[in-house]
Amino acid sequence: MAIEVAPEPQTRNVFQIAQAQLDKAAAELNLDPAVHAILREPMRELHVCLPVRMDDGAVKVFKGFRVQHNNARGPTKGGIRFHPQETVDTIRALASWMTWKCALADIPLGGAKGGVECNPKEMSPGELERLSRAYIGAVYQLLGPDCDIPAPDVYTDSQIMAWMMDEYCKLTGHYCPGVITGKPLALGGSRGRGDATARGAIYTLREACRHLKIAPKGATVAVQGFGNAGSYAALLAEQLLGCRVVAISDSRSGVLNLNGIDAAAAVKHKAATGSIANLPETEPISSDDPVKAPADILIPAALEGVITGANADQVKARIVAEAANGPATPEADAILHRKGVFLIPDFLCNAGGVIVSYFEMVQNRQCYYWEENEVYERLDRKITRSFYDVLSVSAERRIDMRTAAYCVAVQRVVEAMKLRGWTG
Ligand code: NAD
Repeated sequence: MAIEVAPEPQTRNVFQIAQAQLDKAAAELNLDPAVHAILREPMRELHVCLPVRMDDGAVKVFKGFRVQHNNARGPTKGGIRFHPQETVDTIRALASWMTWKCALADIPLGGAKGGVECNPKEMSPGELERLSRAYIGAVYQLLGPDCDIPAPDVYTDSQIMAWMMDEYCKLTGHYCPGVITGKPLALGGSRGRGDATARGAIYTLREACRHLKIAPKGATVAVQGFGNAGSYAALLAEQLLGCRVVAISDSRSGVLNLNGIDAAAAVKHKAATGSIANLPETEPISSDDPVKAPADILIPAALEGVITGANADQVKARIVAEAANGPATPEADAILHRKGVFLIPDFLCNAGGVIVSYFEMVQNRQCYYWEENEVYERLDRKITRSFYDVLSVSAERRIDMRTAAYCVAVQRVVEAMKLRGWTG
């Protein structure tokens, strides 16, 4: 099958960026063209319309998607996003990154993602519950602990997972906590899942510092995005590595203090006021400013495409730890590489979330729940091994860390496809 020529960089959407990243690794690995063509596209996707009764009595129709990219290594897995600018192409990109993330973490799962175009900030809890249930009603036939397992992502949380699990159980007629992860503890969630994405990111950051011989204690950190991944990343950078957080932002604004921001105080302030704006003893900056803040470490933890050809040159950090999915475009990658910035690529850096989600599935199957420290130790072992798998391929092949991560992951998926007889 012929591979389409990529469009010009400025007109590419995030899925085309994900495909361009894969193309680079495919060239490096001299991948068979048919195998490459399979991996470039999702194997299945469902588009749904979700009529939901709003609090004012009107019915509003929301668009939703579930995309399964590849299940060669096991059931597909991936979060569900609720976002006003959701598009199927974003979901396709995120689904493919889940395939690579699960393969790189060496967990027996494939990649999927889901999303609904909606603005949860403008919806009541009742409306969110009805939307969550409607989404599951529309896609549940694709889901199941042996088929496809969702989880939280941007603007979805453990309460939404609980409603979704409940709806799935009602529709199928049996209790099935393993159909979804990121659940509250009382419903079969895993200890350690709440901060798992950030914790995994901080473990990879610790190893990057070790590799680069940078002392993490006192190193300065800028965090863009202050939700689940970003807020825990700031807290854990302080607590586990002794770093000093100097800049943080959310979708509304940002704050800076080069002497250090108390991450716990920022979390409290955001919980109390809904934003990190006006955090005492800080000066205001914009939502995007952490990208160019004078910090040793940059942790993008919001959305895709925030480090681009237009601003990558202004990045001052020595390490970029991509807690978010897809924060840097290929043009930014090239600039960062040229500047000697050490990149911990997204599907390595943020794999802690899916690793502990996998632990949650294992515990649900066993009906036996682990202590927090056991979760942390197993996460540390898995993600640290993945870090060194990527680092050694990067050194052996003399390629950047993202392409090296692709090489490791793609080879694992290709091996599974071959063994299953999908390819020659
Ligand atoms: P979240 O909804 O908890 O938080 C998102 C945060 O980003 C919010 O603080 C929001 O205000 C902020 N934000 C949005 N637009 C912004 C902008 N333009 N500038 C600055 N901040 C902005 O979401 P999350 O779960 O923390 O996810 C963040 C990223 O991490 C996403 O890319 C997601 O795919 C990725 N991720 C999350 C998990 C997980 O387990 N939650 C796992 C792996 C990867």
